[in-house]
Amino acid sequence: MKPTFQFDIGTLLAAEMLICLVFGLVLLFVASRFRYVRGIRQIASGFLLAFLGMLFLLLRAHMPLVLNVVVSNELMFGTNLLIYSGIGGLLGFRPRFRLPVSAAIAAMFALIYFTVAHNRIDTRIVVIGATECIMKWNLVVDLLRHRDRSLAARLLTACLMLWAVSNILRSIATFLRGTPSSIFEYNTIQACFIGIGIFSACGMGIFCMVFVSRQVTASVERSARRDALTGALNRRGIEELLTVEVERSLRSRTPLSLVMIDIDHFKAFNDAGGHAAGDDILRSIAAAIMKNLRPFDACGRLGGDEFLVLIPGSDAPDTAIICSRILREVEAIPPHPTAGIAPTISIGFTEADTFDTTSDILARADRALYAAKHQGRNCAQMEFAPLRANELSSL
Ligand code: GH3
Ligand code: MG
Repeated sequence: MKPTFQFDIGTLLAAEMLICLVFGLVLLFVASRFRYVRGIRQIASGFLLAFLGMLFLLLRAHMPLVLNVVVSNELMFGTNLLIYSGIGGLLGFRPRFRLPVSAAIAAMFALIYFTVAHNRIDTRIVVIGATECIMKWNLVVDLLRHRDRSLAARLLTACLMLWAVSNILRSIATFLRGTPSSIFEYNTIQACFIGIGIFSACGMGIFCMVFVSRQVTASVERSARRDALTGALNRRGIEELLTVEVERSLRSRTPLSLVMIDIDHFKAFNDAGGHAAGDDILRSIAAAIMKNLRPFDACGRLGGDEFLVLIPGSDAPDTAIICSRILREVEAIPPHPTAGIAPTISIGFTEADTFDTTSDILARADRALYAAKHQGRNCAQMEFAPLRANELSSL
């Protein structure tokens, strides 16, 4: 006897159902481990809802037809909405729900009508196909509009396109072939359709995992450059950024200012109020500095009580204004409740010059800070870059 590789529709549906269950559970576990990754919980719930929808479908013979048709399909439409909202959260776009929700509601009434008033399987297949296609295409449009041009995003878009188109082709083929006696009746179109569903569900689950791993990696990289106490960048983070900003300033011929800030008599806070008081002061000084910066400026803690601030696009006079704002902001901080002392800071700043290396600029800002300490603290001092011979001749 020739071996046959033909799976009946019930078996294929059960396979798709189990795949959705596995992805749902795995993604739920991932969501519980990485709570800060947005959207993953909705995607996991979407897969689990699809599992329930298919379970309902397989139990069709054991309940009233209209209840089964409406509940199983609305669960599948709910899956689309949850996955849409989850992918939006994961990739950072705002989902537009009006069209898919309206389609799901309209489909519900149509399904009730074509089950109770006229029991038409073929029309129901068209209604379901059109609704699924609208919902999936809505997500495809958002993915195409989104800036993400990664391979994972492109492959996910391709999966969804295939899934959406397969729904339409199935509807057309059903009309051409004639009405099946039941949705479990085997025919090649139905089997291919479920095969595409299995393939696309796997693709969607895998690419969502790729997006999650991308976000987790980015977050680990970000935290490797953050100072946990103050939320500012750490030494590594600010030094890396300094190299980037110096190169950018040279290339674009725009000014770059460097500000070095040190807390005055910081040891006194530790001595009078303990290490916790010192930590409180570090946090409030960092907050006072960052409050006066623009989104593209950067603040990093070099270590101990010393901070470095990068202000791209700002020349020395503009930076002097920013420094005076920071000095005033720190002066407004009340005395620490346990240490009983109010903090002040000293600031040294300078503007990058075409001939500077990063260590030249840092050394100049450091000397300016030293001068501010010598001036009696709670003030800002600036050091100019040295004038070169060729610059003097053009004066
Ligand atoms: P000056 O005005 O000359 O800057 O005096 P200062 O006391 O601020 O300077 P000094 O560098 O002697 O003191 C820095 C102190 O900061 C020494 C160290 O014990 C303390 N320190 C370093 N890191 C931390 C930290 O993370 N938390 C706390 N609470 N203290 C820290
Ligand atoms: Mg200090």
